[in-house]
Amino acid sequence: MSDVTVIGLGAMGAALARTLLNTYQVTVWNRTAAKAEPLVEAGAVLAETPEAAIAASPVTVICVGDYDDTRGVLERDPTALSGRTVIQLTSAAGTDASSLADWAVAQGADYLDGEILAYPSEIGGATTLVLLAGDDRAWQTCEPILRTLAGSTRYLGDNFRLPSMLNIALMAPMMGMIAGVIHAALECEKSDFPVAEYTELLSKLLPVANHQAQYLATTIAQNNFSETEAALRTYAAPMNVWVEQCKEQGINAEFPALINGWLQRAMDAGYGDEEISAIIKVLR
Ligand code: NAP
Repeated sequence: MSDVTVIGLGAMGAALARTLLNTYQVTVWNRTAAKAEPLVEAGAVLAETPEAAIAASPVTVICVGDYDDTRGVLERDPTALSGRTVIQLTSAAGTDASSLADWAVAQGADYLDGEILAYPSEIGGATTLVLLAGDDRAWQTCEPILRTLAGSTRYLGDNFRLPSMLNIALMAPMMGMIAGVIHAALECEKSDFPVAEYTELLSKLLPVANHQAQYLATTIAQNNFSETEAALRTYAAPMNVWVEQCKEQGINAEFPALINGWLQRAMDAGYGDEEISAIIKVLR
C-alpha cells in the first residue's frame, strides 16, 4: 500500500507525482505507460490499471487532459472508488465539476475537485495556488498532501463551481495585461519604436499596475469609489484619443474601443469624478 496515487503523467501530473515522491510512497498510472519510467526510477510504483492504482492508496490525485478523460478513467471500475478519497485536479467548467462530484460521491468516494493555478515547474512551491471544493472530511484528510503540492492551497467549501469560476476570474487581469502588451507592441511596430525598449519601460510600471489592481478591487469590495488620485474622467479623454489614433494609423482598435466604451458609459452615468473602478456600476 502506498500513501497516494497519481493518475495522469502528462506535464502537470508528472510534476505532481515527482513532488509527492519527496515525502510520500507514490503509486502512478498513465495511459501511456512509458511516461511513468522516470518516476519509477525515482521510487514510484507503477500500477497496471487505474483501478489497481486507486486500490493501492487511500488518496488518489487525478490530472488528465479533460473531464471526459477523468470520467473515462474513473468509470472503468466505479467499485474501486468506494472508501477512497479522490482529488480531481483536471481543469473543468463548474457544471462538469458538480456532476462528476455527485457521481463519485454516489460510488462511495470522498471527493475534492480543484484547479491548479500554476505551471508544472511551480508545483511544490510555498506560494503555489490550488483552489479546491468538496467534502470537508476529504479536505481534512488531504490538506497535508495538497500543501506539499501547493503551499497556498485554498479550500473553498462544498460549492464545486467556485474553483473554475475563480480560476478564470484570477486569470482575467492577466488576459487584460496580455491584450494590452500585444496591442502596445503593434503600436511600437507602427511607430518604428523598438519593442525591446518598450519592454524595458514597461518593467518600471508593472509594480504600479500590481498595486493598482489590488487597490481597485478593494474599492469595489467596499463599494466606495469617492477617494481617487486619478478620477475616471482623467482616463476618459486620452482613451478617446487612443481609439482615434489607432484608426488613423490602421492599428486594430478593438481593445481600446472596448475600454473606451466602458469609460464613456460611466461618464454618461455621472461617475466622472469617481475612481475608475466605478465602471463596474454601469456593467452590473
Ligand atoms: P498533458 O501534458 O497533455 O497530459 C495529459 C495527460 O492526460 C496525459 O497523462 C495523458 O495520457 C492523459 N490522458 C489524456 N486523455 C486520456 C484518456 N482518455 N484516458 C486516460 N488518460 C488520458 O496535459 P497537462 O499539461 O499535464 O494538463 C493536465 C491537466 O492539468 C489539464 O486539465 C490542464 O488544464 C491542467 N493544468 C495544466 C497546467 C499546465 O501548465 N500544464 C496548468 C494548470 C492546469 P497519455 O500520456 O497517455 O497521453
